[in-house]
Amino acid sequence: MKKFLAVVMVAVCAMGLAACGSKGSSDKTLVMATNAEFPPYEFYEGDKVVGIDAEMAAAVAEELGMELKIEDMAFDSIIAAVQSGKADMGVAGMTVNEDRLKNVNFSTPYTEAAQVIIIKDGSTVATPDDLTGKKIGVQLGTTGDIYAGDIADATIERYNKGFEAVQALLQDKIDAVIIDREPAKVFVSQNEGLVIVDEEFTVEDYAIAIAKDNEELLTKINEALAKLEASGKLQEIKDKYITAE
Ligand code: GLN
Repeated sequence: MKKFLAVVMVAVCAMGLAACGSKGSSDKTLVMATNAEFPPYEFYEGDKVVGIDAEMAAAVAEELGMELKIEDMAFDSIIAAVQSGKADMGVAGMTVNEDRLKNVNFSTPYTEAAQVIIIKDGSTVATPDDLTGKKIGVQLGTTGDIYAGDIADATIERYNKGFEAVQALLQDKIDAVIIDREPAKVFVSQNEGLVIVDEEFTVEDYAIAIAKDNEELLTKINEALAKLEASGKLQEIKDKYITAE
């Protein structure tokens, strides 16, 4: 049994998933794990990751007197990176849910979000109920992926990036995409012939994920968020990236 465990640990270290000696952060650096495929929260502008989460995290780091370092990775690697200490926090438009709360702590929510349905113009899907029996595209490991599992008789196609699901929809490989509202708005605005179903699929909250054994950082981040909220800085960052309808 011990030998087996040792072999597993070596494998886990090789994959970089666990803390194996060196930590990702120092006292002065705040390492943020994200998946920079999620406009307007995190996306590339040239070789720089920008967006609401990136700017909010930079403001949080400033409050803490630390320097922000952004690590871009697959969305479904973020929780493991936070758990192992490879990253100090996960900031990725990440929805608070019960399953994730078993593995990480979440800060105070900073945004109310929603999952919406993207369809092609002229689709027969008009409400979430119409998804029964349909082929649905989602991003792997997201809440859209989880909720799609509850739809009767649906076939679920999982993609690494939300945009790849949108592309499959454009190519008629799937009937609909379930994805977060703001990225959905960005993808629909960038591609002709797509619309968002009026009725939202779910309502949820985004928060920052922090390791369970780092209560101190959780407290500090919550204090920083409260300050940014009170000063109007958080709203200012959101308004920079999301134009009111
Ligand atoms: N809000 C969704 C989730 O937490 C998607 C986040 C993302 O793709 N970055 O699962």
